[in-house]
Amino acid sequence: MRVATSVIEIINPATQQKVGEVPIYDRAQVQAAVESARKAQGAWAAYSFRRRAQVLYRYRDLLIDNKERIADVLTGETGKPRGDVYTVELFYLCDSIGFWASRARKLLANQKIRPHLLKNKSVYSSYLPIGVVGIIGAWNFPLNLTIGDAIPALMAGNSVVIKPSEVTPLSALLAAELAAAAGFPPGVLQVITGRGETGAHLVDFADMIHFTGSIATGTKVAERAARALKPVTLELGGKDPMIVLRDADLDRAANAAVWGALVNSGQVCVSVERVYVEEPVYQEFVNRVVRLVKGLRQGSSEADIDIGAMTFPPQVEKVERHVADAIAHGAKVLTGGRRNSRLPGLFYEPTVLIDVDHSMKALREETFGPLLPIMKVRDEEEAIRLANDSVYGLSASVWTKDIARGRALAHRLESGGVCVNDCLVHYLTIDAPMGGRKQSGLGRRHGPEGIRKYCHQQTIVVDRFGMKTELLWYPWSPFKTRLFSRVLNLLFRSGWKKRFFG
Ligand code: NDP
Repeated sequence: MRVATSVIEIINPATQQKVGEVPIYDRAQVQAAVESARKAQGAWAAYSFRRRAQVLYRYRDLLIDNKERIADVLTGETGKPRGDVYTVELFYLCDSIGFWASRARKLLANQKIRPHLLKNKSVYSSYLPIGVVGIIGAWNFPLNLTIGDAIPALMAGNSVVIKPSEVTPLSALLAAELAAAAGFPPGVLQVITGRGETGAHLVDFADMIHFTGSIATGTKVAERAARALKPVTLELGGKDPMIVLRDADLDRAANAAVWGALVNSGQVCVSVERVYVEEPVYQEFVNRVVRLVKGLRQGSSEADIDIGAMTFPPQVEKVERHVADAIAHGAKVLTGGRRNSRLPGLFYEPTVLIDVDHSMKALREETFGPLLPIMKVRDEEEAIRLANDSVYGLSASVWTKDIARGRALAHRLESGGVCVNDCLVHYLTIDAPMGGRKQSGLGRRHGPEGIRKYCHQQTIVVDRFGMKTELLWYPWSPFKTRLFSRVLNLLFRSGWKKRFFG
């Protein structure tokens, strides 16, 4: 993508200035990093939860002390506004540190199991760290999708090796430097840099992979990990539908659509990517959205702005392709629809499209840019059918004053998460599982699954009474055979016994 040498140059997309360069780790270097992580893991796992939490809290203090430096690096490599760094990146990361540090012990506590049958056994299940977790992240949230996903893995007693996107590796490197200063033992949290090949090596050497990125790369990662039957979780793309019903609060819905589609220049996996509006309120909704979008300020991340640059050059071309394809199929641009020629970097004007339908790429493929296509629908049935007409199933939203109806429609959407009268916010609800259906992913981040996935689950069965032998053990005899034959009849024939033995 960028320069084909042993280093990668990092370019500020808002100014097109070089802001750094990073080495490309080859296979041997990736292997060495994973081996040193493996050596460090045992001692880290032997720390109590409390001691691991203390390191994380020190880390959080250092992140806050260095927030200006982090914001400089992050805005420099992504082109996003400083406000987005403080909120969606740093706020999320600091909150997630507190969340996992304070809850990991409870979420990973041994779980007592009362066997329904073998009453002479004491049974429990425990969560043990997997070992070295490899985290491969996308470029749209360079801190959250690297360090953010590492926090639960670390609290579970794993060591972590992170491969950030080649486009935005600098903030993860800075965060790793601060982690060392916070007292993580050497090797426990490492960042390696490089392109896709470096990520592929990490898949080969780590014990588990948590991946965030596109469906295409996620599929490659899953195939590669499958060769060694390694666990993988995949957080992939989305084409999130927003359904606005005729009884919705149109002000709230319009404000949400504009923010939900355009925050981070639309480069969010859970962005509002398409809107379906019931006919009676369609025109009014469109008018409000266009008014709001026209009032947005776009510019370089140092200025007082709403929308920054796009981060990844091919992404701007993708937005252009989607808009051109939509226009060719009959769509109308109400505002935007082109690069922002007043600005030097990767800026695409926030764009509203109408007269759109599912023959267009903008309605079927993930755009991942500042594009808001709005489609008129007859009724909620048509909206649900169109919303589900997608290979994606990451998240969605329903807008109505009738909450019961909103919930009922939410359950009919083929989506990992649905907000009613809100959008995107389920990503920030760390307490609840977040992830995709269909081709949007496998596994969950956040919620109990968000930390348990970084563990082996082990079941321990302990005999309670210490008898010399058990009924199931040898020797086998005609008497035992007859006995079990009768027991089968007694326990499992339909009738009153079913109530007791299931
Ligand atoms: P990519 O799939 O292109 O890349 C993701 C990561 O994988 C990068 O670090 C990349 O490295 C690395 N990589 C590339 N090839 C390989 C390989 N063969 N083996 C291992 N790793 C590899 O995604 P993008 O970075 O373009 O991110 C955008 C996508 O991420 C969008 O589809 C978006 O929806 C999705 N996303 C999903 C989220 C979710 O939670 N569901 C959250 C955020 C984004 P390099 O960059 O060096 O090529």
